[in-house]
Amino acid sequence: MTDRLLIQNGTLVQPSSGTLREADVLIKGGVIARIDRGIFDPSAQCIDAAGLLVGPGFINLHVHFRDLEEAHKENLLSGSRAAVKGGFTSVVCMPNTRPPLDTPVMIRSLLERNRAIGLINLYPTAAVTTGLNGLTMTEYGLLKEAGAVALSDDGCCVLDAALLSRAFQYASYFGLPFILHEEDTLLAGEGQVHPGETAFVKGLRGIPLTAEESILARDLVLCLRSGARVHFTHLSTDLSVDLIRWFRGKKARISADVTPHHLLLHEEDVGTLGNLAKVKPPLRRLSDIEALKEGIHDGTIEYLASDHAPHALADKEGDFSRAAFGISNLDVAVPLYVKALVDEGVVDWIQLWRLMSANPAAFLGLRKKGALEEGMDADLTVVDPDTEWEVKVDRFESKGRNCPFDGWPLRGWPVYTVIGGRLMMSKRSLPDQ
Ligand SMILES: [Zn+2]
Repeated sequence: MTDRLLIQNGTLVQPSSGTLREADVLIKGGVIARIDRGIFDPSAQCIDAAGLLVGPGFINLHVHFRDLEEAHKENLLSGSRAAVKGGFTSVVCMPNTRPPLDTPVMIRSLLERNRAIGLINLYPTAAVTTGLNGLTMTEYGLLKEAGAVALSDDGCCVLDAALLSRAFQYASYFGLPFILHEEDTLLAGEGQVHPGETAFVKGLRGIPLTAEESILARDLVLCLRSGARVHFTHLSTDLSVDLIRWFRGKKARISADVTPHHLLLHEEDVGTLGNLAKVKPPLRRLSDIEALKEGIHDGTIEYLASDHAPHALADKEGDFSRAAFGISNLDVAVPLYVKALVDEGVVDWIQLWRLMSANPAAFLGLRKKGALEEGMDADLTVVDPDTEWEVKVDRFESKGRNCPFDGWPLRGWPVYTVIGGRLMMSKRSLPDQ
């Protein structure tokens, strides 16, 4: 088999130079060897990308691959296949697995198993505190040595400000950034949804806006004073966007992301979608969606990360208050973002690729990824910008079918995924397992 791949006639999306141009891409030995017009190489496997967009591979900073004791919800193989199907060449997985990723052994074994599967680039986060208990710091230096790229207690927040402040200082020695889920669990209490009309009609307890905003404000202060590098994930409120904007003005080392569901669904959708729309943070108001889009448009929010949270259907059935929080979306995140942002004129294709590839690569310090240039790793995603297909949840590669977007007609689907020079998805299909 040839190690050469030639992608011909495509429109190249080059976020580093901010240009779109027609050219061919020759991949050799896992690297982008040449970009030019009219490349001829009879020994290469060819892909005709006429009418398609060819860009650096998408990188998702927030996925849950479950695995281990929750492999019935998702395992490393199904999660990796969902990533490939979704056009993601690299993902950052969260540590709130069972058991959690809080020791070097857990991180090493995850990376070893990922190497054995050999599909995607996987970057693990490690827990900020042992067992995500919010009480005891983990061994940041050893975790980094084992391969952890960031620290997170995702699913929870670190309520103890003194501990988080020490953690910020301690992690700075090792250059480890944080990815924080901002939710004051005391304010959130037993809340289920945004405390609006739907909560009132359905008699559900609310998770106030302040559950996110107050802890975000606190952590922004701690971050600014400590100089730590902190990324705030899945923002959901208008004031959260304002806070990020203000602290960026103060030169805090911060960044933020938004999920596709917080851009496309709002609190009233819980009335029609039911348990499938139960997620943390909860779906908010239309005015929050507008503020999130404004934040993306003006550069306050520089990342898109999908918070892929697969569950078994049994976990999502029955009484709303008992159903699990979370939405499975890795298979369809790209066209969802296209609908929310490109179709609405919030960003263009080049900006979308910055938000989903160039910026996440920079966050992770991956100098050979996030750009479509000669000499870079051959991680590429090819997107069909025009053809509309329906979301078919029963065709997901992910085991998680808990997705409220079933049946939505969308455009902007990844059609080819190339990772390390290997064609992992062709014409929207993966080879059988
Ligand atoms: Zn979270």
